[in-house]
Amino acid sequence: MNKQKRIEIFTRLRDANPNPTTELNYSSPFELLIAVILSAQATDVGVNKATAKLYPVANTPEKILALGVDGLKDYIKTIGLFNSKAENVIKTCRALIEKHRGEVPDNREDLEALPGVGRKTANVVLNTAFGQPAMAVDTHIFRVSNRTGIAPGKNVLDVEKRLMRVVPKEFLLDAHHWLILHGRYTCTARKPKCGACVIEDLCEFKQKRDYME
Ligand code: SF4
Repeated sequence: MNKQKRIEIFTRLRDANPNPTTELNYSSPFELLIAVILSAQATDVGVNKATAKLYPVANTPEKILALGVDGLKDYIKTIGLFNSKAENVIKTCRALIEKHRGEVPDNREDLEALPGVGRKTANVVLNTAFGQPAMAVDTHIFRVSNRTGIAPGKNVLDVEKRLMRVVPKEFLLDAHHWLILHGRYTCTARKPKCGACVIEDLCEFKQKRDYME
């Protein structure tokens, strides 16, 4: 795909949604970090339901640590993998207090050293809480990048690196939100809505004609 096409694609996605953001509810970098840890293999809606009850009671490392693993599980038991997530969240809270004065670090190295925090989670926090250009490539971004031809790659790291290289600078900060939302609602996994897609004429997906109705 050439540069001009990419510019046009992101211009249209931006026009359709000028201020994209995560669908996870949060009001501080710490709340976002915990929500993202909880969201692995779970829906944002499910995480929001749990954090709507948790955060009014405990939304700092100190307060969540005070709940303890079992106390925390009571709030998040509707979320998949809640046992291991509770352990990781408690360990992360402890690490934030001991190593970062209770603050969420704003660099990749320190974020990825926290329990339960991988590259994708770090990218979401860097991008969404701290406004740094970063691509948290999830299943939606991976699919959209490959299908459209914006940034094809064999694995999520390939796609992440290519997106960082080829997405025009002016779109870099918000690109991952546009791609996630496009994949979640339009370029869906089983039945993409190509007939209603704002970038259909630019997309290089060979089978798009099969999904035009
Ligand atoms: S045309 Fe279809 S395959 Fe291409 S981006 Fe749009 S929904 Fe996805």
